[in-house]
Amino acid sequence: MIIAIDGPAGSGKTTTAKEVARRLGFLHLDSGALYRAFALAACRKGWADAEGAVDAQWIAGLACVDVGVEVVDGGVTALLEGSRVDDDIRTREVTACASKVSAFSQIRDRVNAVLRRLAAEYPGGVVCEGRDMGTVVFPEAELKVYMVAEPGERARRRLLQRGEAVTAERLTAESARLVARDTYDSQREASPLRKADSAMIVDTTRLSFEEQVTQIVQAAQRLDRA
Ligand code: C5P
Repeated sequence: MIIAIDGPAGSGKTTTAKEVARRLGFLHLDSGALYRAFALAACRKGWADAEGAVDAQWIAGLACVDVGVEVVDGGVTALLEGSRVDDDIRTREVTACASKVSAFSQIRDRVNAVLRRLAAEYPGGVVCEGRDMGTVVFPEAELKVYMVAEPGERARRRLLQRGEAVTAERLTAESARLVARDTYDSQREASPLRKADSAMIVDTTRLSFEEQVTQIVQAAQRLDRA
């Protein structure tokens, strides 16, 4: 079974998908980590400007960079030139750049090939999450979920996740960054962020983590019994 979870930044996809996968004994695929690994490569090579934008002239070179994955603890961790990059891909600079490089289809083709190979090779089911899992990468997914949450709540969670104090000023700035990234992701030509027609919507604004996970696990179990 393939469970495809999509949605805007900070809607809780990664933590939820990881726990859903753990409960079902499935493999968790975080597609964003792969885009972030390409973005880290661009930042390290000096190909990204201060806003994270990468000029089209560098994209062919970037698409040839060695980005892969290692399966660890029921999920995958991104590798850049053979090394794990777990923390390095979570910086603000890399986050902004990930959104920019993911607009290029050469980079998307590389990421999608890795995801599809893993899903085909893994003997159990997979829970994959990102922006285009249900619409483009796994249109055949048995269960499609679209996770959303209000920007203020998403910003609050992001600050807490990073261990930063939640102040009104920080909330406003983080909300603006999230909304800007969502706008960029949903307006690009290549695989824009959008809800798959058959996806069930899970609005996590007022749901506890347990409730989010349970809704998806139960939907998967209902399908499995059908
Ligand atoms: O999910 P995460 O925030 O780690 O993703 C980082 C960026 O990678 C997103 O802002 C988006 O631009 C891009 N991405 C994408 N398609 C996916 C997953 C992530 O375009 N399937």
